Amino acid sequence: MNDRRIIEERDVDGGAPPALEVTERTESLVREFLTLLGEDPDREGLVRTPERVARAYGFLTEGYRKDVDELFNDAYFDEEYDEMVLVKDIEFYSLCEHHLLPFFGKVHVAYLPRRKIVGLSKIPRLVDLFARRLQVQERMTKQIAEVMMERLDPLGVAVVVEARHLCMVMRGVEKQHSTMTTSHMLGNFREHQPTRLEFMNLIACQGA
Ligand code: ZN
Repeated sequence: MNDRRIIEERDVDGGAPPALEVTERTESLVREFLTLLGEDPDREGLVRTPERVARAYGFLTEGYRKDVDELFNDAYFDEEYDEMVLVKDIEFYSLCEHHLLPFFGKVHVAYLPRRKIVGLSKIPRLVDLFARRLQVQERMTKQIAEVMMERLDPLGVAVVVEARHLCMVMRGVEKQHSTMTTSHMLGNFREHQPTRLEFMNLIACQGA
């Protein structure tokens, strides 16, 4: 493995917090929501809840205020490396856009460089950029793959996401431990079966 590939880039700042006006508006809506649920928003345990919820959702949706250009900035290297680069088991937490409940799990991202490679720490950050929004798993999978393809111009990209959705688990729609797997393959991973199989073996994932 080339040393430059494991260089840690300088930290990218987290997304900007929502505007104060947005936070205040969110707090008053959460307060109203608590009332609609039949709660007393003035009881001790709930007094600061609107503020906490606003802050938590600000963080969980900070992907809206992050920018792919800024994330990748100058983290590319030219490299004569033509083997598969794989970052597996990237933990993520997202919110399903249908219920605003969490779905979470792991993302595996691989690409076959044409010439450009990117600092490895950028890939988990790219996952967060799309995960910290209201999402559907299929779209998130595709967005990650498409940005990798567009920015690195590699021979191919593969993204597999395995996740549990609390909107299914908590409501008893699915068995408690079922996971959903989505994949998006581009270039060589789509067209060349041995490449796809090598990737699937490396992440030890059947099907997809
Ligand atoms: Zn849902």
